[in-house]
Amino acid sequence: MKANGVVTRFAQTRGGPVSAHCDVAIIGAGPYGLSAGAHLKAKGIGVCVFGEPMEFWANKMPEGMLLRSPRVASSLSDPDKAFTLEAYEAASKTEPCAPVPLDTFVEYGKWFRHQLGSDLDPRTVQRIDRDEPGFKLILQDGHEIRATYVVIAAGIGPFKRKPVAFQNLSPQQVIHCYEGREVRRFAGKRVAVIGAGQSALESAALLHEASAKVEVIARQAEFRWIGQHSWLHHMGPISSMLYSSHDVGPLGISRLVAYPKLVSHIPLGIRDKIRTRAVRAAGSRWLPARLTNVKLTLGRSVLEAKAAGDEVALRLDDGSERRVDHILLGTGYQVDISRYDFLPQELTRDIGQFDGYPKLASGFRSSVPGLHFIGATAARSFGPLLYFVAGTEFASRELVSHLSRSRR
Ligand SMILES: Cc1cc2nc3c(=O)[nH]c(=O)nc-3n(C[C@H](O)[C@H](O)[C@H](O)COP(=O)(O)OP(=O)(O)OC[C@H]3O[C@@H](n4cnc5c(N)ncnc54)[C@H](O)[C@@H]3O)c2cc1C
Repeated sequence: MKANGVVTRFAQTRGGPVSAHCDVAIIGAGPYGLSAGAHLKAKGIGVCVFGEPMEFWANKMPEGMLLRSPRVASSLSDPDKAFTLEAYEAASKTEPCAPVPLDTFVEYGKWFRHQLGSDLDPRTVQRIDRDEPGFKLILQDGHEIRATYVVIAAGIGPFKRKPVAFQNLSPQQVIHCYEGREVRRFAGKRVAVIGAGQSALESAALLHEASAKVEVIARQAEFRWIGQHSWLHHMGPISSMLYSSHDVGPLGISRLVAYPKLVSHIPLGIRDKIRTRAVRAAGSRWLPARLTNVKLTLGRSVLEAKAAGDEVALRLDDGSERRVDHILLGTGYQVDISRYDFLPQELTRDIGQFDGYPKLASGFRSSVPGLHFIGATAARSFGPLLYFVAGTEFASRELVSHLSRSRR
């Protein structure tokens, strides 16, 4: 019997939950989970992908956002390359545009998910436990699923970084960009946006366009814009030698990080330098024009932020003060797998880690046999490509090749 992609091998226990089994359970139906699911399914491996398809992109990204990645690096991966962004646009008669609008990307992901059919189960996984020789998953409704392998593709949601200066404010006063989807609700409000990366700068532009009174405050002395030297991208074959089509990282590094397997053999210290350089805070080159009427305060840190009635009082390191209605943190993410609430401590402490990132070997294997991680959590092992949709191709192929071998 097959329900929701899960091969049921046990009858319903009396009064208890249905016990079921799948070879590979993937937790998370974002670009990584959906792509890996498509590859495993095509290989005939029993897979079930858990989670609401594209939930992060549909519910957390700011309305009106545009993708920072180029079109060629914004397709999910399937083995025949039949379900690309272009294929979706042709099938749905959507006008191709660059940069890719958020709504198009979300609809594309939902269209892509159809190839998984009943192998996608929208329920959330609440807990994973070891259940030799595999794992037991408990779903949001109490159902239990057994899986021989588990692949965690659960994204970066729990890893939001909140600097200490903002810890004592209420959730109405301080919001992370991750929760800043509805920009229109800030119309007429004074909002301080903290940070100088794509999230902060794009949110600032969207808030300004939604009639909020915005000030961006950033520690950096100047903003960096991706693709500042655009002529370097228009020199035909020479450009291809300098940049990969994924366009992650600067000249030269961009080519290197396109080979995650090679990156995984580089000593950790150098690998970390490459990773941080490739994803340092910067905004897309179409943002400066949208920020010309936004107040930008550079080279300053917020020392203190405290509630003052309905307002927030900010004190900066130059002694100046601000009064605002809300703070929007574009302060990024810090991977720490112990913050995945579905991973119990007993399991997390057995996973070898580099400061919160799992240590992964080929096939995205963690040190717990049968437990794999893909997406941003794999970036410390395989490099910065794994932070982006462009890494879905490598992750899916590598995973399939490893799981096919180990099942044999
Ligand atoms: C503001 C912003 C802009 C970005 N722009 C780009 C861009 O332009 N191009 C690009 O390539 N990348 C971009 N990124 C990076 C982006 O996060 C990744 O590329 C992409 O989302 C990675 O896919 P994923 O599947 O690993 O994670 P996600 O897309 O986050 O998917 C993970 C999914 O897992 C689900 N999940 C979590 N826990 C559970 C559970 N217990 N049970 C079931 N499901 C669960 C979540 O709901 C989520 O839908 C951006 C990130 C941010 C924050």
